[in-house]
Amino acid sequence: MKFIYRFGNGHADGSAQMRDELGGKGANLAEMTNIGFPVPPGFTISTRACRYYMRHKCLPTRLPAEVRQGLAFIEEIVGRKFGDPDNPLLVSVRSGARKSMPGMMDTVLNLGLNDVTVEGLARQTKNERFALDSYRRFIQMFADVVLSTGTAEFEECLGAERRRANVKTDSELPLKALTRMIVRYKALVKERTGSPFPQAPDEQLRMAIEAVLKSWNNQRAVEYRRIYNIPDAWGTAVNIQAMVFGNLGQSSATGVAFTRNPATGERRYYGEYLNNAQGEDIVAGIRTPKPLDRLETESPRVFRELITWFGRLERHYQDVQDVEFTIENGRLYFLQCRNGKRTPAAAVKIAYDMAREHLITQKQAVMRVNPEEISTLLHPEIAPDAKYEVVTKGLGASPGAAWGEMTLSSERVGQLFSAGHKTILVRHQTSAEDVGGMARAQGFLTAAGGMTSHAAVVARGMGKPCVVGCDALRVDYQAHKVLVGNREINEGDIITINGQTGEVICGKVELIEASFSDEFEALLSWADKFKKLDVRTNADNPKDAARAREFGAQGIGLCRTEHMFFGPDRITAMREMILAADATGRRKALAKLLPIQRNDFIGLFRAMDASPVTIRTLDPPLHEFLPKDDAGIHDVARRMGVPVKKVKQTADQLHEQNPMLGFRGCRLGIAYPEISEMQARAIFEAACQVKSEGVQVIPEVMIPLIGDVKEFVLQCEVVKRVAEQVFKKTGVRVNYHVGTMIEVPRAALTAGDIAQEADFFSFGTNDLTQMTFGFSRDDVGRFLPRYLEQKIIPNDPFKTIDTEGVGVLVRLAIRKARRAKPELEIGICGEHGGDPDSIRFCHQVGMDYVSCSPYRVPVARLAAAHAALLEEQQAERKALRATKQK
Ligand code: PEP
Ligand code: MG
Repeated sequence: MKFIYRFGNGHADGSAQMRDELGGKGANLAEMTNIGFPVPPGFTISTRACRYYMRHKCLPTRLPAEVRQGLAFIEEIVGRKFGDPDNPLLVSVRSGARKSMPGMMDTVLNLGLNDVTVEGLARQTKNERFALDSYRRFIQMFADVVLSTGTAEFEECLGAERRRANVKTDSELPLKALTRMIVRYKALVKERTGSPFPQAPDEQLRMAIEAVLKSWNNQRAVEYRRIYNIPDAWGTAVNIQAMVFGNLGQSSATGVAFTRNPATGERRYYGEYLNNAQGEDIVAGIRTPKPLDRLETESPRVFRELITWFGRLERHYQDVQDVEFTIENGRLYFLQCRNGKRTPAAAVKIAYDMAREHLITQKQAVMRVNPEEISTLLHPEIAPDAKYEVVTKGLGASPGAAWGEMTLSSERVGQLFSAGHKTILVRHQTSAEDVGGMARAQGFLTAAGGMTSHAAVVARGMGKPCVVGCDALRVDYQAHKVLVGNREINEGDIITINGQTGEVICGKVELIEASFSDEFEALLSWADKFKKLDVRTNADNPKDAARAREFGAQGIGLCRTEHMFFGPDRITAMREMILAADATGRRKALAKLLPIQRNDFIGLFRAMDASPVTIRTLDPPLHEFLPKDDAGIHDVARRMGVPVKKVKQTADQLHEQNPMLGFRGCRLGIAYPEISEMQARAIFEAACQVKSEGVQVIPEVMIPLIGDVKEFVLQCEVVKRVAEQVFKKTGVRVNYHVGTMIEVPRAALTAGDIAQEADFFSFGTNDLTQMTFGFSRDDVGRFLPRYLEQKIIPNDPFKTIDTEGVGVLVRLAIRKARRAKPELEIGICGEHGGDPDSIRFCHQVGMDYVSCSPYRVPVARLAAAHAALLEEQQAERKALRATKQK
């Protein structure tokens, strides 16, 4: 097994399929070489070397010889020799993991320079200042990345030379300054490390390779992997590639570009470049890059070549590419390309457009968009009629608007986050170390940087609002404030940012929910064609129901009727009912609730015209409705005309040690059938009335917390009896269903019996998870974070269904139920119904629908399509394997 894979001269040992071995960057360099792109030659050290290094803490013994061979390959193509005093080859050394981890690991450029080769480079390029400049950059980068000296003192020295020469940018520094800096830099290395700066190119290369391998386990890389769920065991590849120079003069440049706009998805290249510069100058944000359009006038031939390649790239990769390019004396090179990170809005537009352009199919388009991410498309924007004063403006780098406390460090963001505060992270520029804080802030604002700066890239990845390149902003970390002109904003002050327009605003601005774009609607309608699961919503009022319907909900999967008992007129009647001495008292109070509930249901049926509406009878423990404080108790006593003492007594009697396992759910309806009667009456009276208005109604009455079929039978009898009474009285009949939630483990275990009686099942996976784990769903905060940290459980089981425990119960219940009644309708209405991974599970176990909160409906539609398409892909692969075997 070899460690290195070469690429150059139109041929590569590797290919795009070898990401696991070569990392994303290496696989793409191989691929680009194979399809004829102008890529400087090089070789990739496989991720196996990194895994070896992690295990043995040293490089594989065979590696140096293979690296020599790789160098010889490069030398042959470019006609230069590594370490040659007259004609030196310089290389770059870059990390590249299977999944891109932007800026997380290390890179060394210009490697191979020393006191001798620098002169050769000067002669060869006839550009002494370029050679010296490359050397001083190399020493600093090598010292920082490989020798861990940090950059502060180097930057200080650079700043001092700039001031001394009275110039603004590095490219204006005189030769003498560069020479002085090289001497000083080498001295700094000696001071910091105790050894002289390594002069032997082979030694430099060995050290750099080791440093890149080591950087896989640096703190920020580890943190990044944690956030993005990337396995620690993968390891990084190392790419060693001939240097090409964007800093050889004005006919040289370095640039980054996307084949389409990564913020909006607009079908037009987006990029920026800098003349006479190296790649890191763009990212560093010290000089402001020029928009790519300018290249058209400055260098039309190169521009046209670049644009032509963009088209080819998209056709080859069938996706938007993010490229790094260098122009060396008018000659174009690509240094890397990869699928471009994009905002969720851009992802939708690009997927849609590409399908319309026949670059991809509708199915591919649907699969291109991550369901979880699109929830950010429903993220707030500034209300169109909001009044506010813009203090300054930068580049809108990632859309959406957010407000929060202005916060200048990632640590502080973390602290405030834990205390439940919203923050906007403000930095001169962000770096990889800030990723932890960025994950917890509402949005980011930076003084420096362009659309491809660190903050911009991370924000788009996270789908958070971001404004960059806000020139007027002076960040004063010491004084904990920022200045805009003579205006001061202190840490902790509320600011608002608009990532679409780049506006920065003092104070909190009213935000509104975003609306769907046409492309989004279209993509979701394609998703609907492919998905097998129906998507319903959990809604208890007409407004939510109507919104969910706009989002594409195919019915209500759960109406929690208890939410309807909390209005001022309602809660009093409810309390009267609870505190009543006997059934007569309860009926009196329930009679007051009947018209109120009926009205609620009328609203729901109207909003959900012709779609099923699943209404659950009362579920929570009664004490939740009682007043908690003295004032409340006095108020109830006064309204009911009973002594305060009596109210207190009843409230005390209702107290339970474990209310969630207590007097709740169907147990209430069994003890006090009059409650279920009233609710059934309200449901059917509403249904009959709405039906006679000409609206089609499909009521489904759902009994909660069943553990035994007899409980269900008792409640079902009540519902059916009332239904008949109402039909008789109104002269209208409606078709309806009576079903149950499966949320007590015993119900899952005895699902066959229950299915014989019930018309439908809806898995209440919130309670089912609570009771299967024995974790109180209201108290898990105390210990769950530790469980997750110690990997006792992989995910929060209240967010993503625990397939190994709860999931087994679900599967078992479905199997038993379908055996007893094949046509039984089965859904889920726990929070998991809006979680993409759980939705995939629901698809796999053959449910009919998922039900989730209104804002999750689009996510669920897309996730349901993904589940169906993934299954289809798997079946296709299986069939392919079978035919191959034959
Ligand atoms: C459930 O238990 O999953 C459920 C939907 O009911 P609730 O959350 O109201 O207990
Ligand atoms: Mg429940």
